[in-house]
Amino acid sequence: MREKKWIDCPVCGTKKSMRVKQQLQERFHPQGYPPLDIDALEGQFCDACGEGFWSLASEKRIARLLGQHCATHDATRIVAAELASVQDAAKAMRVTVQGIHKMMDEGRLRYVVAGDTRLPIRRDVVEKVSARMAAGR
Ligand SMILES: [Zn+2]
Repeated sequence: MREKKWIDCPVCGTKKSMRVKQQLQERFHPQGYPPLDIDALEGQFCDACGEGFWSLASEKRIARLLGQHCATHDATRIVAAELASVQDAAKAMRVTVQGIHKMMDEGRLRYVVAGDTRLPIRRDVVEKVSARMAAGR
């Protein structure tokens, strides 16, 4: 995916109002979790209305850090029976073990951190498998 260079603001329509901004800090509020501050972000934002877009790299970083943040928090309230091993998740979703790690890195599969291993949340695996079955794949 290529980075799109914005010039005119697509939100408020102001001409030539989009600026690249770096070293931004933002507080994120994932639903059901404590807020998380992420710094060193960059993106393009409108001088007029303040709306904008994170860069692709920052978007990836946000997804990864939010995934970790939720995983750390879930470790305190999710019991072992609700977790799957990476191997079981890979088998159920018919992807490789690396594929499961990638999904966790990208914040696309929920997991908890237990010691130094990551364990996918069983319910999220099951939901993704049934969504795929419903889509006929
Ligand atoms: Zn604007």
